[in-house]
Amino acid sequence: NFGESKVLKQANMLRDNNLYPFFRAIEASEATTVTVGGVKQIMIGSNNYLGLTHHPEVQEAAIKAIEKYGTGCTGSRFLNGNLTIHEELEEKLARYLGHEQAIVFSTGMQTNLGVLGAICGPKDCMIFDSENHASIIDASRLAMGTTFKFKHNDMESPEQVLQDNVKRFKNTTIVADGIFSMTGDILNLPRVIELAEKYGAMVYVDDAHGIGVLGDRGRGTMDHFGLTKKVDFNMGTFSKSFASIGGCISGDRETMDYVKHTARSFMFSASMPPSAVATVSACIDVILKDETIHQRLWENVKFMQDGFKEIGFHTYNSETPIIPIFIGHDLKAMQVTSFLQDKGIFCTPVIPPAVPGGESLIRTSYMATHTKPELSLVLEAFAEAKKEFD
Ligand code: PMP
Repeated sequence: NFGESKVLKQANMLRDNNLYPFFRAIEASEATTVTVGGVKQIMIGSNNYLGLTHHPEVQEAAIKAIEKYGTGCTGSRFLNGNLTIHEELEEKLARYLGHEQAIVFSTGMQTNLGVLGAICGPKDCMIFDSENHASIIDASRLAMGTTFKFKHNDMESPEQVLQDNVKRFKNTTIVADGIFSMTGDILNLPRVIELAEKYGAMVYVDDAHGIGVLGDRGRGTMDHFGLTKKVDFNMGTFSKSFASIGGCISGDRETMDYVKHTARSFMFSASMPPSAVATVSACIDVILKDETIHQRLWENVKFMQDGFKEIGFHTYNSETPIIPIFIGHDLKAMQVTSFLQDKGIFCTPVIPPAVPGGESLIRTSYMATHTKPELSLVLEAFAEAKKEFD
């Protein structure tokens, strides 16, 4: 009887108290603002870092692709679902990222499941950060190899694991997020590369939140550190800065060819729809053309980081457009979210099991296209929330 499950009991309790913050239906969207229940709200709960979902050139490209190829591919890349624009996008991504070859998947989650499943066989192992995304955790359950976890961004513990185990396995891969999705901090990639070189391990970066954001023109965490050529696998998603849906992996040509012939989520699932492919391709064009987009993004990030600090919020070590606001108790996080919603702010709480008990937070994130008046309203609402709930 699933109605008796803890999760549904908790959901129903929140619904009864008008505090349920999930599955809010958005009636209209202009990227930085959305309409919910007939009321316009400022969106600070999305991953649309560059605000490109509503860029006219991006929208036009998606429409044209539907006109040319239809709305879906109705099959896997392997068989009938491989369009010329998939291959053109892969070439464009490889050039943009600085790797030999890129492969596009239908989602970022499928990319992690498929690639990690393919490269971590029964004789292999992966070592990963405890705060990695859920799709990496699921990938480790699906992969036939052994998994070791290390404490978040603590570079001592993986060294111990590497020392103890590397000789027992054929291939060892260190897997970590480039930007951690909840706390917004950046992976210590130089140290990861150092360890990988010392122990002969491969490096896999899930750069879902770094691609489009960090590095020169958004080339990601590996570019941010000048370590592109040292990363064996760079994973990205198109569900954030690239304003669509889909995922990608890049690396050397031969390894990518192997992935193409072994990643089950690539082979046994239909390919990215044409409109999504064209969207991502147009996003890269806009990013390469628009000299100001990243400047505007980082100006907004600084404005909000300074603003939150001035109000007195704890924002972890965030150095990125993801700014988590520490709240503490999970019920309080729901109450603050509801309070902010009444003030016209759309944001989302992050509660256990996504974070440890007592460490609930509100995950806020910012776009290049947010205006200063929008951001000032957000800060005013948070300042009122602090007075109300502290
Ligand atoms: N990795 C990370 C770090 C993510 O944050 C996400 C999405 N939240 C994914 C992978 C999965 O990406 P997608 O939405 O494309 O499935």
